Amino acid sequence: YYRFSKALIMLCLTCIVLITQAQSQTWSLLQAPKEITLKLIRDPVTLSLASIDYGHIVHDNPFAIFAPSSISDISLLINFSNSLAIPITIAPRGQAHSVHGQAMTNHGVVVNMTELNGFRNGDGIVVVVDDTTIGPYADVGGEQIWIDVLHATLERGLTPLSWTDYLYLSVGGTLSNAGISGQTFRFGPQISNVHQLDVVTGKGDLVTCSAENNSELFYAVLGGLGQFGIITRARIALGPAPTRASIMHILFILFYHTDNFKEKTKTDKFHAYIWLVKWLRLLYNDFSAFSGDQEHLISFNGINETNAADYVEGFLLQNQPPLDLSFYPEPDQPRITSLVTQYGIIYVIELVKYYDNSTQEHVDEDVKLLVERLKFFPTFMFEKDVSYEEFLNRVHADELFLRSQGLWDVPHPWLNLFVPASRISDFDEGVFKGIILQQNITAGLVIIYPMNRTKWDDNMSAVTPHDDVFYVVSFLRSTVFDKLEEFKAQNRQILQFCANAGMGIKQYLPQNKTREKWEEQFGPKWKTFKQRKAQFDPNRILSPGQGIFN
Ligand code: FAD
Repeated sequence: YYRFSKALIMLCLTCIVLITQAQSQTWSLLQAPKEITLKLIRDPVTLSLASIDYGHIVHDNPFAIFAPSSISDISLLINFSNSLAIPITIAPRGQAHSVHGQAMTNHGVVVNMTELNGFRNGDGIVVVVDDTTIGPYADVGGEQIWIDVLHATLERGLTPLSWTDYLYLSVGGTLSNAGISGQTFRFGPQISNVHQLDVVTGKGDLVTCSAENNSELFYAVLGGLGQFGIITRARIALGPAPTRASIMHILFILFYHTDNFKEKTKTDKFHAYIWLVKWLRLLYNDFSAFSGDQEHLISFNGINETNAADYVEGFLLQNQPPLDLSFYPEPDQPRITSLVTQYGIIYVIELVKYYDNSTQEHVDEDVKLLVERLKFFPTFMFEKDVSYEEFLNRVHADELFLRSQGLWDVPHPWLNLFVPASRISDFDEGVFKGIILQQNITAGLVIIYPMNRTKWDDNMSAVTPHDDVFYVVSFLRSTVFDKLEEFKAQNRQILQFCANAGMGIKQYLPQNKTREKWEEQFGPKWKTFKQRKAQFDPNRILSPGQGIFN
């Protein structure tokens, strides 16, 4: 007992010394070169803004916020940190739309990437249309947000090929994870659509890297959870955007789709119908029919690439409030509600086909071919025409609504999983019909759709399950603080169920707490991940909020 108490006291004293030392190192920041100190912000309002994220679950207290006015400012800060006996941790912060403190640091420095906008002076996104070797691309600052990339590229008749569902995320933030959506099955995640990066490494070096040059850094950073360097520029592959619709077609839509136009201004109407998509939802009660059809749609089996869908996702309609049926025509809403009431869970495939001037003649025929063998409930297929931008930016409309209700800045105990296709039926039985249906808490929005592993590059840090096809299953919950623990408990239960069933799942946007869990997450890639950390950020200063090396 005596020896144990002595050891405990020694441990406590060591901790106190280390913490005090670390804190005094942090204070030494104030003696850093002027180029750094002038850009450190320490007022309570700014500090408190950087101590939360979209998740509203983790609260960390940074020592200061750094507002870089150039890329070399970021190098200077990193070099200064590395010069200290105990380096200061540095967290690049894009839009802080992480849900578990990934862009935060306790006592360290948060780099507010959006400040680089001032340095770019309006040149944060440069579109190049005539490169004969790699085709069109955009050079985009790591701090830029995807909605601005969309606008800048559409102006030149071009578009990135791979997206996230929500576009107010930073380029550096999504490339640090993967960046996935309903186009991933076809073009791979956003990290598969990058030609080149500029990165300030954890050693403070500014390096240009690609699959050909400095490839180790390039592969490390893509999907690297911010561990190896700060992305300051990404060269994003572009393809042609659907070309403009003809005036005749715009007039046609004005006449026949008047419902969509009721609340729009004249300018909105014009912009909304320049590029078009057909947006479909198909309802199922049988999970194997639903997942079989989703896998068929992403397999290109019997469908050539031009006739294939441009986007495939899916989600659950559950017999729980709020049942959002705003997509569906009003007269159909009662029969959809009674279907959901009858079955408890309805599975919905969401499918999109882009079209334009040159393809509008046969788009209905193309859609008919795509859906003719699918096994959805007869007569439960719904479609509408919207603009390309309105479709890609669809989550923003939800954001505006939730903000107006005070429901945006609330806790988000999200859980995102990659589940091998070979185990997705077990997942449905055990999690959707087991845990979710039987527990009396609102599951929130549950998204589920498959992707092809061949479209991912295994050299990159991002991890996927082993199956050639795997699903993303996202539990996107919003809640009040009182209920947070219930959701966290349910997340743990889902993870435990998957572990017990030996499903071989991986977390997307992972939130692991122990070294063992991280090793499990990276599996055979862990060794390389660790080596790359030692190579590019040996003092382990970057993105401590991920909780991997700190
Ligand atoms: P932050 O939260 O600021 O940062 C995330 C991590 O990256 C942190 O570790 C940070 O330190 C690091 N980081 C930030 N900038 C850089 C940089 N320039 N260089 C290196 N590291 C950096 N994800 C999808 O894939 N698909 C979706 O459809 C999708 N939908 C979403 C919808 C909503 C409403 C929300 C809130 C999130 C969604 N996400 C989706 C998740 C999102 O992609 C990630 O949370 C992403 O990290 C958010 O980008 P951010 O700019 O907010 O990053």
